[in-house]
Amino acid sequence: MSVGRKWNAGLNEWVKASPYNRFVMSTIEANAIEARAKFEAVIGLEVHVQLLTESKIFCSCSTQFGVPPNTNVCPVCLGMPGALPVLNRRAVEFATLAAMALNCQINETSIFARKNYFYPDLPKGYQISQYDKPLAEHGFIEVRAEGAKKKIGITRVHMEEDAGKSLHDGFPDSSNKTAIDLNRTGVPLIEIVSDPDIASADEAYEYLTLLKEIILYTGVSDCNMEEGSLRCDANVSVRPKGQKEFGTKAEIKNVNSFRFIREAIEYEIGRQVELIEAGGKVVQETRLYNSDEGKTYSMRSKEQAHDYRYFPEPDLLPLVVDEKWQSKIRKNLPELPEARRARFVSEYGITEQDAGVLTQSRGLADQFEAAAKAAKNPKRVANLVQGELAGRLKGKGIEIEDSPVTMAGVAMSADLVESGTISGKMLKDLYDLAFERGKDFPAVYEEEGRPQQSSDTSALEKIIDEVIAGNPKQVEQYRAGKTTLIGFFVGQVMKMSKGQANPGIVNELLRKKLA
Ligand SMILES: [Zn+2]
Repeated sequence: MSVGRKWNAGLNEWVKASPYNRFVMSTIEANAIEARAKFEAVIGLEVHVQLLTESKIFCSCSTQFGVPPNTNVCPVCLGMPGALPVLNRRAVEFATLAAMALNCQINETSIFARKNYFYPDLPKGYQISQYDKPLAEHGFIEVRAEGAKKKIGITRVHMEEDAGKSLHDGFPDSSNKTAIDLNRTGVPLIEIVSDPDIASADEAYEYLTLLKEIILYTGVSDCNMEEGSLRCDANVSVRPKGQKEFGTKAEIKNVNSFRFIREAIEYEIGRQVELIEAGGKVVQETRLYNSDEGKTYSMRSKEQAHDYRYFPEPDLLPLVVDEKWQSKIRKNLPELPEARRARFVSEYGITEQDAGVLTQSRGLADQFEAAAKAAKNPKRVANLVQGELAGRLKGKGIEIEDSPVTMAGVAMSADLVESGTISGKMLKDLYDLAFERGKDFPAVYEEEGRPQQSSDTSALEKIIDEVIAGNPKQVEQYRAGKTTLIGFFVGQVMKMSKGQANPGIVNELLRKKLA
């Protein structure tokens, strides 16, 4: 998306330079748009998610991230001859739970298989994965595409072990040597393969966002992209609209953010259309995305499944997750984001947009729900989150989970406004102080001496008398029938009370005195 924008911005400058440029430009752009319109994109995504188990999938080594290289290793994950894998029960439960959350059917029996290939950070010379009998199949995620709902199929969810990591920099001899860290070797992963149902870069982005949200809700992974807990490859092809057969696909590998994946797909669709329109042919290959340039580059020709010589892993029994075990795992399935959003809208009367923000993570949704239940008016809690909290968080670049004002604080502030104890202006000031001091609302409210808007009528009456005496012209007009001036008088009184007065009471007293 932004690739296109950057490109357009450059062109726009050039176009402005002369009428001739404008003529050429309109031709180029029209041709590109016309070419693009003749084709449709077919996109499938493969997402690797690291499971949050304490130990690895086939040995008892720790999965802890960030420890010194090659310390979380043993004969099994180093691939020593004769060392035997033992399957981690918790990894199976996590994988099954994730598959259930993605609406998959769980296969009672699945088979581990060896995927053979040589790579320096793969000491065994093969990876234990699943092939023709995966753990789960036939799932889906529902995304919003151009306003309507669309189901993106999930072909399969299978279990596998991770490989190690090649380190190309950070060491004194990094210029001519590559180091290998095998701490990650044998860390449990699930691979989630989508059907080729995705039709645009935006849909891919939406799918990934929802997928991550769902996995986070299940708690089986932290989906931390910087630490490699979630990685995504995209298969992209194009075909003339109306054609049934797929075009040749290119695989974009190792893109480390959803934004870059969207850009890479957008670029790749354009590249393939241009290539075909110029009479060229797309070749099946693996490509890398360079986010600085906004372009993909050929890395190597893509292996076919038969290149890996898959065969059943002889050291592991078939994995059996029977009905009984499945129903035990299913009990841990939480209410998922989509269902929760719908319930928030109906139960708390908030907008779909508010519900979307408040269900971004399970922790936040839990907090909101607790606050809304405790507060007198749940809708006000939601409004304060959107109106007072969200803007201040954005201004300071803080995630809502790290907000100094917690949901409990929001609930308290909502009740204070609801009961008329504090005014909207006072609430804003207290939120400002909370963010300045990095403290929650109740603490700041205490520190400020539990301020209240004044409903002390004798003090208010004095101010009102002053305002009436000071504005004889307006009083005359008001009494002559221009009652809309009441707003002016309320404003004057509020100003003189420094925002402390209760506007409802001011209004009432003013009307009486002016009558
Ligand atoms: Zn190990």
